[in-house]
Amino acid sequence: MSWVQRLPLLADSIQEGVLTRERIGRSYGSTILACYPHYHISSKSQERADLRSAKKVTWKQAVSITPWQLFQISKPETKKGKPMTTEDAPSGAPLKPLVFRVDETTPEVVQSVLLECGWDKFDEKRQNVEDWNLYWRTSSFRMTEHIRVKPWQRLNHHPGTTKLTRKDHLAKHLKHMRRMYSTSLYEFIPLTFVMPNDYIKFVAEFCKEKQTLGTKQSYWICKPAELSRGRGIIIFNDLRDLIFNDTHIVQKYICNPLLVGRYKCDLRVYVCVTSFKPLTIYVYQEGLVRFATEKFDLSNLQDFYAHLTNSSINKSGASYGKIKEVVGQGCKWTLSRFFSYLRNWDVDDLLLWQKINSMVILTVLAMAPSVPLADNCFELFGFDILIDDNLKPWLLEVNCSPALSLDCPTNVLVKRKLIHDVIELVYLNGLRNEDKEHGKATNGNSFSKSDQCKLREAHGSLPYEALLQFKSRTYSSSDTVEEKAVRLLPKHTRTSQLREMMNEQKDLLVPTRQAPRLMSRHTPHEAFVPYASLIRSHPCKAKVSPGIPPDPGQAPSPHAGNFVLIFPFNEATLGASRNGLNVKQIIQELQKLTNKRHPQVEKNKTNRR
Ligand code: ADP
Repeated sequence: MSWVQRLPLLADSIQEGVLTRERIGRSYGSTILACYPHYHISSKSQERADLRSAKKVTWKQAVSITPWQLFQISKPETKKGKPMTTEDAPSGAPLKPLVFRVDETTPEVVQSVLLECGWDKFDEKRQNVEDWNLYWRTSSFRMTEHIRVKPWQRLNHHPGTTKLTRKDHLAKHLKHMRRMYSTSLYEFIPLTFVMPNDYIKFVAEFCKEKQTLGTKQSYWICKPAELSRGRGIIIFNDLRDLIFNDTHIVQKYICNPLLVGRYKCDLRVYVCVTSFKPLTIYVYQEGLVRFATEKFDLSNLQDFYAHLTNSSINKSGASYGKIKEVVGQGCKWTLSRFFSYLRNWDVDDLLLWQKINSMVILTVLAMAPSVPLADNCFELFGFDILIDDNLKPWLLEVNCSPALSLDCPTNVLVKRKLIHDVIELVYLNGLRNEDKEHGKATNGNSFSKSDQCKLREAHGSLPYEALLQFKSRTYSSSDTVEEKAVRLLPKHTRTSQLREMMNEQKDLLVPTRQAPRLMSRHTPHEAFVPYASLIRSHPCKAKVSPGIPPDPGQAPSPHAGNFVLIFPFNEATLGASRNGLNVKQIIQELQKLTNKRHPQVEKNKTNRR
C-alpha cells in the first residue's frame, strides 16, 4: 500500500485539521514504519521538543505531503545505496536514522550490519538516555531493564530463556512435557540424566543396557550443564571413566551419526522467537553444518576431533586446513549445501526439515507458558541438531546468543545475512507489538471475533496463505497454492551455484560407508518450504489481493528475509497461541501433522518397490 493509500488511515488522528508527530507516532507509527522502515519515531523528550514546532497541516495538505516532510526526516544515505526508492525520495529534509545501542559484548557483525543498513550507533554523550531503538548484547538483560523499556525500543533477549539454554533445564523441561502430554513427539532428545541427582537411576540404566547388549559396548557422553564449546566433555563406555563435580548431564551417546565422507557433523539451525505471548516462531532457511575434522571412530573415544563437532575445537585440529573426503577444507558447510548433498543421495530432505521444525516448535513450547510477559524483545536461538543414519534428528542443545564470529568464509556468508534478516524480522514484528500495546486496553490478550474476521479476509485462514498475498504479484488461477508458495521463497537459499559446487564434488561422493537411507524424491524447492505438505493439503481459501501487505498487528508476517514463520502454522494454532497458549491443542495439531506425513512416506516406499 502506498503512502497516499495509507494516509486516509490517519484521518482519525487528525483533530481540528492538525497532524502532530506525537499522534501519528503513537497511533499509526507502526503502520507508516512498516512501509518505510527507516523512519525514526523519537523518544518522548525529543517529541516534546519537536511538538513545540509541530507542523500544523490541514487534511488536504496532509494528503499532498510525504511522510518524511511530516516527520521531518530525510532519505538515509547508506554505503550500500538508497533504502527507499527514488520516487519516495524527499528533497533536502534532515535525516533521523534508527539508533542501536551496544556494549562490549555485542558481536562486531551486528554493529557493522546495522551501520550498513543506515542505523546510527547510540552515543550517550550526545544523545538522550532513551534515544535508541535497539539494544543488542550477548548477556541477558536485568528484569528492571525489561520493565523500563520504551515502546520504541527493542531488546535482543527475552527474560527466562535459560529454561531452554541450560542443558539440565532443557532435559528436565522436555521430560516433563513428554510425561505431561504422554506423547512420543518429545522423543527427540537422547536419554538424559542430570548429575548428581540422577546418579543412581543412571547406573541402573547403564547396567540394564550392558546386560541387553551383551558383548556390544554402551556409549555415553557427560557434559557440564553450563559450559559451552565442548569444554569439560567426556565420552565413555566404562562407568569408571565418569567423573563430575558440579551439575553435569549424562546422555546417551548417538553412536550412529549420519556421516559425510566419514566425518561426523551436526546442524546449527537459527530460530527467532519474536514473541512468546502470542507465541511466534521463525526458523531460518539457511544455517551451518559443523564437521569433526578426524574420521569418526568409536574405538577411540578420546579423540575429540573425531567426536565433537564444535568449531572452536576443530579449528585447531591438524586436519582443519586439509582437503577432507567430501567435506573439503575447513569444518563448515552451509545448510543449503548439506541439503543439496542429501538430495544427491535421494534423501527426503523435506521430511527431515519438517521433523526439525516440529522439534523446534515442541522445544519452545516447553518453556513458553512459563516465561514472563515482555513485549519489546526477541530471542535468536541456535539449535544444535545431530542427524543419525536413520535420518532421525536429535536435539543436543539450544544456545541463546549463538556465536556470531566471522572467522571463516561460510560464517561470513551465513551470519551477515542472518543479522540483516533478524533486523528485518524484528522490525516488522516489533512494530506489531507496538500496535498490540495500543489494542490491549480494549482487546486484552484475546483474539477478538472482529480480529478473526479481519484475519480471514486479509490473510485467508492460514499464515502461509498470507504469504501468497504478501508480495505484489498476480497469480494465475491455475497456480497451485504450493507453486505460489515455492515461488515466493527466498531464492538464494538454494542457488544453482551450490548445485554446481556439489556437481564439482561428484567424484568425491563415492560412498565410503553405507549411504543415507533412501527416501522419496521431490523437487529441490520443496526442501525450503517447511510446511509444503501442509500447504498442499489445504486449499487456498483467501482472495488474493496483490500488493497489499497484511495489516500489522493482526497475524505474524509469513516471512522476512530467509526467516519463515513456523508457528503458528494453521488457524487452530493461531487461535491456540492467542488464547492463553493452549499447549494441549497445539500438540494435537502437531500430532495430526505428523500422522499426515507418515502415510505419504509409506506411499512413496510402496511406489518405489
Ligand atoms: P557444548 O555446549 O559444549 O557445545 P554440546 O551439547 O553442543 O555441548 O556438545 C558438543 C558436541 O558434542 C556436539 O556438537 C556433538 O558433536 C557432540 N555431542 C553432544 N552430545 C552428543 C550426543 N548425545 N551424541 C553424540 N554426540 C554428541
